[in-house]
Amino acid sequence: MRTNFLFPMVSTYKKKAGAVPLLAVCIIGFLCTATYGQRSKPASGNQGILSWKAGAASAIITPEENMWMSGYAIRDKPSDGKLHDLWVKALALEDGKGSKAVFISTDLIGLSRDLADVIFERIQTAHNLRRSQVILSSSHTHSGPVVNSNLRLIYPEFDMEQRQKIASYRTFLIQTVVRCAGQAFQRMEPARLASGTGISRFAVNRRNNTPEEVLNSGDLKGPSDHTVPVLSVRSLRGELKTILFGYACHCTTLSNNKWNGDYAGYTQIELEKKYSGCVAMFYACCAGDQNPEPRGLIVQAEQYGLELAAAVSSVIKGPMRELAPEFASEYRELELEFAEPPTDEALKTVARDAPEWQQRWARHYLRERSEGKVPQKSYPHYPVQSWKMGRQVLIALGGEVVVDYSIRIKNEWGSDLFVAAYSNDVMAYIPSERVLAEGGYEGETSMNAYGQPSVWAGGIENKIIDEVGRQLKMLGRIRKTP
Ligand SMILES: [Zn+2]
Repeated sequence: MRTNFLFPMVSTYKKKAGAVPLLAVCIIGFLCTATYGQRSKPASGNQGILSWKAGAASAIITPEENMWMSGYAIRDKPSDGKLHDLWVKALALEDGKGSKAVFISTDLIGLSRDLADVIFERIQTAHNLRRSQVILSSSHTHSGPVVNSNLRLIYPEFDMEQRQKIASYRTFLIQTVVRCAGQAFQRMEPARLASGTGISRFAVNRRNNTPEEVLNSGDLKGPSDHTVPVLSVRSLRGELKTILFGYACHCTTLSNNKWNGDYAGYTQIELEKKYSGCVAMFYACCAGDQNPEPRGLIVQAEQYGLELAAAVSSVIKGPMRELAPEFASEYRELELEFAEPPTDEALKTVARDAPEWQQRWARHYLRERSEGKVPQKSYPHYPVQSWKMGRQVLIALGGEVVVDYSIRIKNEWGSDLFVAAYSNDVMAYIPSERVLAEGGYEGETSMNAYGQPSVWAGGIENKIIDEVGRQLKMLGRIRKTP
């Protein structure tokens, strides 16, 4: 096993919702309240409407000033201009019975919980939504701004000027995301939703293939998930209004100092050029151990962007499955335990011998210990969320989830499932049991980058997969494998 990325920062449905017996609904409602998983309930007064309503909006979130960029520990200076803009985009939905939801995509590295919670609270209050009805995703571009505490220990200590810029960008971001979601709801009109899956093969498992092997051999080692989940929104007249799509690959083609959305930015630009008036929204899937290879050049980011746009277009032009106007959602936060923290001796070794960004982590925890602080034993808020739109289920997981998760979920529950990662809270990498045992960046040292006290404890994979299974059952799915 090796970690070879450029820089070290880095079925069948049993029943339709309407056919669930009243008793079952009551039991489900009780369980959801008890566990704070949530099932959205139809609003009253809209029973006559039997189609989706949908609206989309977008806003530029490119910082106006040059400031520190997110993602790579190797960068040693702030941004210097842009290649193209960064965007927040929102897709608001309302089903035939008045249940609402909003999916938000951002061209950002990921949002930490403290920042995301402010956004959730404002959007939920403004639109009377439960937590399960809002998804806040990110593209994980490594060419966007530093946002709040996400990945805080890979950067050097910021001076006052940079701290003020980050704080003011945070305020701007919150206001812009909330306003964008509001505009999407305002623009809702009757719509048709459809889904389909395409394929694009530029993602490479970065743990199992070196850049040289990628260039010299067609025999790439997996695992990877090359599927391209696509949701389309059309007006009742058939005009394409919104495309929501994903891909399981890090947005790490580029590492220069110009703002850009990496390959996913180019894909969105291409799709919005091709389908005039359409909002194209990207979310990162289980890309924790996946990189575009080869990489480093703007022309490569453009190439991957166009490849992904072609894959999305082929789904849009082909047969897609129409989705009935029925929405349901689930949400729960899990407590994930950390393994025993390293000893003082181990921390001192890292503080002395490791790369600078790891030294910062070790010094931080040595300082805390000297002050008598006890490291956290667990992360209590790992978010697992799922939406059902007609027959299409979309799962949204927090953190930098490695590809083993989407492969396992689809093997167990159906290949038609969409699995987003980097959603709601990006607090760390989420290794599978295999990757955790192997170690390396995604299984071990990335926890330093995220400022976590230790690696995850064993059992993390089954804990998350079990919760995904619980939610899928609640949404009426039947497991494929026993
Ligand atoms: Zn990453």
